Amino acid sequence: MDQTASGPGSVPRVTLNDGHLIPQLGFGVFQITPAETAAATTRALEIGYRHIDTAEMYGNEREVGEAVSGSGLDRSEVFITSKLNNQFHRPDDARKAFDGTLDALGFDYVDLFLIHWPLPTLYDGDFVATWLTLTEFQRQGRARSVGVSNFQPHHLDRLRDESDVVPAVNQIEIHPYLTQDPLRKYDTDHGIATEAWSPIAQGLVLDDPVIAGVAEAVARTPAQVVLRWHIQRGDIVFPKSVTASRVRENFEIFDFDLGDDAMEAITGLNRDERTGPDPDTFDYVPR
Ligand code: NDP
Repeated sequence: MDQTASGPGSVPRVTLNDGHLIPQLGFGVFQITPAETAAATTRALEIGYRHIDTAEMYGNEREVGEAVSGSGLDRSEVFITSKLNNQFHRPDDARKAFDGTLDALGFDYVDLFLIHWPLPTLYDGDFVATWLTLTEFQRQGRARSVGVSNFQPHHLDRLRDESDVVPAVNQIEIHPYLTQDPLRKYDTDHGIATEAWSPIAQGLVLDDPVIAGVAEAVARTPAQVVLRWHIQRGDIVFPKSVTASRVRENFEIFDFDLGDDAMEAITGLNRDERTGPDPDTFDYVPR
């Protein structure tokens, strides 16, 4: 994946398969309450983050939009991702849901819109119809880029066979205990950028002795080491934190490098261990 000149601060940007640029580090807002989201997002923007990852499912798109609108930054300076919730996969529902996302954010476009989960056991397994609907939003210019989340290779094969648009990104769970190298390779081979959700496994990997050892050797925190490992692998990350010092810490990962030995030691921690659901069976639909 191309990495071009720096965006704000020294965050590299990745070129997507449709030519748009995405900052490789962003701020995730999953599990931030609506009441806390505007303040947390404002803090992230002040620190220098220019990429926010939200979703209809998180219930805080409106507050993300408020923070971006109130930041004094031009809309074009902030990359905003949102996602289609699971109850809206049918094309007409997806169209209404996307209108709702833009309305909540208060903007006339999103930078990236994703199918949140493939839900292969629901909707007669027809996530292709949902995907074709997202490509409408892109043609209308209301989603600059479109992509998927939690898609496995066999799901992506169907999109390739049944549609002309290759997803710009695949957002999947990745951290040192779930390195996902076969799926990452599939993405790379097909021009899809990989985004790593729960990049520090919600904190679970931070006490690992191997990670602690690398952190001590490079005089950084375990979270910085793990986030740097993702960056050097070329993946896009957006750690979540409501703690100001951690939001800053997570941003300060572009002034050091991990050597090959440290990279391999962290990758070697893989246990194929998910913290989240299995995309092939996950069928949660909010009511
Ligand atoms: P993360 O791996 O980002 O971990 C967040 C947790 O780690 C929080 O409890 C936070 O605590 C803590 N933390 C953050 N930074 C540090 C630090 N420097 N030191 C110690 N602890 C720290 O988990 P998420 O699940 O939030 O994943 C990140 C983003 O990925 C989400 O916000 C969302 O945008 C996306 N996502 C997408 C999914 C999908 O299906 N597409 C699924 C899950 C996530 P605190 O806030 O208390 O500081």
